Amino acid sequence: MANTDLPIATLKGIGKVKEAAFEKLGIRTLGDLLYHFPTRYENRGVVTTLAEGQIGTPQSYILTIATEPKFARLRGSLNVVKFRAFDDSGSVEIAYFNQPYMREKFHVGEVYRFYGKLTEKLGRFSLGSPIAEKYDEGAPLPELYAVYRLASPLNKNILRECTKQALALCKSELCDALPGAVRERYSLATLTYALENIHNPEDLTALDRAARRLAFDELFETALAVRLMRQKQTRAYAARMADTDLSAFLSTVPFALTGAQSRAVGDIVRDMSAGEGDDAPRMSRILVGDVGCGKTVCAAAAIYLTLHNGMQALLMAPTEILASQHYADLAPQFASLGYNVAKLTGSTTAAEKRRIKAGLADGSLHLVIGTHALIEEDIVFADLGLAVCDEQHRFGIAQRAALLEKSPRAHMLVMTATPIPRTLSLVLYGDLQISRIDEMPPGRQKVGTFFVNENYRARLNGFIQKQIDEGGQVYVVCPAVEPVEDDADEGAPTVSAFGETLSNQPPLKSAVAFSEELAAHFPDANVAYIHGKLRPAEKNDIMSRFVAGAIKILVSTTVIEVGINVPNASLMIVENAERFGLSQLHQLRGRVGRGTRQSYCILVSDTEGETAKQRLKLMTKTNDGFVIAEEDLRMRGPGDFLGTEGARQSGEGANFRMAALCSDPTLPEAAGEAAEELLTEDPTLSAPAFAALRARLARVMDTSETTMN
Ligand code: ADP
Ligand code: MG
Repeated sequence: MANTDLPIATLKGIGKVKEAAFEKLGIRTLGDLLYHFPTRYENRGVVTTLAEGQIGTPQSYILTIATEPKFARLRGSLNVVKFRAFDDSGSVEIAYFNQPYMREKFHVGEVYRFYGKLTEKLGRFSLGSPIAEKYDEGAPLPELYAVYRLASPLNKNILRECTKQALALCKSELCDALPGAVRERYSLATLTYALENIHNPEDLTALDRAARRLAFDELFETALAVRLMRQKQTRAYAARMADTDLSAFLSTVPFALTGAQSRAVGDIVRDMSAGEGDDAPRMSRILVGDVGCGKTVCAAAAIYLTLHNGMQALLMAPTEILASQHYADLAPQFASLGYNVAKLTGSTTAAEKRRIKAGLADGSLHLVIGTHALIEEDIVFADLGLAVCDEQHRFGIAQRAALLEKSPRAHMLVMTATPIPRTLSLVLYGDLQISRIDEMPPGRQKVGTFFVNENYRARLNGFIQKQIDEGGQVYVVCPAVEPVEDDADEGAPTVSAFGETLSNQPPLKSAVAFSEELAAHFPDANVAYIHGKLRPAEKNDIMSRFVAGAIKILVSTTVIEVGINVPNASLMIVENAERFGLSQLHQLRGRVGRGTRQSYCILVSDTEGETAKQRLKLMTKTNDGFVIAEEDLRMRGPGDFLGTEGARQSGEGANFRMAALCSDPTLPEAAGEAAEELLTEDPTLSAPAFAALRARLARVMDTSETTMN
């Protein structure tokens, strides 16, 4: 057994309690610990003078000791060691409570780097129990201290100590799965260097090198995994849809297809009817198109083709709300064509579930629409010919693989409204053929987009009132309610894994609290809120009241990001807009402007960051999702596409812990290219040299362990 497989309890000082805490963080082995990356780094290299020090914020000071430490007993068992220290700008009292040994540590004239919070009382400044490191110009002190996601009773010191021990134990046998040639070609650090420096960076440059290497691994492994899946698929056969007459279906569609829709339907029909006899090469196609471009009708055409040829189809959506909406839209249409349709989600009753399962097994049910419950349940189909998966980006590679395993004879069609930049789609969807729907149905109006700050609040409220008075409805989106919990000192200067200084961001608005504020302001608007943690029945209830127009203002987290269609909604307000990726904002904007009302999207942000402001301004200038995606990649790197809430919740996010923080737009392309080349050289990676790589890929594609949102 490799040391990386050793249980965490192997480390000194880890008993049952801490072991359980590690388990909560998903860490069981030393290897897991090494891949539990810091969320960011405290930068103690930023030194402040006493004159410029801010009260209550942890900062570094380089100070000379002015007086010998004095020990004093205080009330009860409390004692203190006190002395004074100074820099060019002033002096300060330093006090250590209940650490009597500190008296021996410090001597007049010595220089230390102190890291702590300055306090002031009656005009006297002091530093309470700062971290002290002997300072010597010749031997620079470490600057960056890893900050980790924690679970009580673990703290940063324990984590840092354990990581050090784990590195020492595993270092000699760390097996670098990345082929040496690839590493050299892209000037990447070795795995050992990367892991050492990600946890305990020598300096900013070393940190960047480490992060870059680890991000590359994630992208490279994903790119390889999707390509290996494609190989499997092109060898697979699915049921051939010989009768391609769609006229009955088209007569139930109340509008004429756009050119782009016709082309996409053409692609689908050609794929599914290819070949001869009963078999067609399995279709693995993705429909990519902006929100509102009309992907659903294309999917419906594929479903009809399948049912018309005597087989069954399933349609899977990432949320219960979306599944319900699809069901509401499609069930009547297919019923009118003589087919039986059912809905299966997490909240379907046991009796109903039994009925549906029986119907699918004996073939009397033709189409089932639902959530991932569809692949979790042990459902047997009489003859499944097509699996449609809506809003692709919420499903990870592993889920895609699971869906394929469940339905070896079925074609697969996925839909996404995230216009992913080309280079990134090669990494993420290298296994799929792409149909782009780059044309909007006629008569679509442009959504007027504005970027404002808090000063605009009063006018914004007036605008909301106006929309409601005119019969419109309003969405208000707040960032996800869960702030990341880590152990950084409040207000401390921090940097990202790629060495960029992280500015302190404006405070977060939570959906629940903000909806109360709005409710007080708009007592007649039936303000409601919805977020991912509500029970499905509650969510459905709220959504249906919003659809019916009873709720005028709906406050939510990004659960409404995907798919929801309420034509009467005319105003989308995004709070803390700086927290969202541009593509995500673009999707949110797509929730309005779906009916005849002139619609608006207002991005509210108090951000001071220049890039953040530029990004938000870009939103006001263009409505083209593909342009926005390319720009977002250029400005911020692939992070927004890889690290969204949706990606994190599905298996995908887990694969991109480092890449999601990366701001280098060229890294995905490099990784895709490297994967392509390696597979040209060895299509199945069967050479013994690739054993370690194969083992890592097996983890990326593992379908048994992934959890879904
Ligand atoms: P999305 O691509 O975001 O899933 P939908 O399929 O939900 O978009 O379509 C959005 C709206 O546009 C729906 O109300 C649909 O009926 C309408 N629609 C789709 N295609 C056309 C078309 N060719 N002409 C007119 N309306 C259309
Ligand atoms: Mg849709």
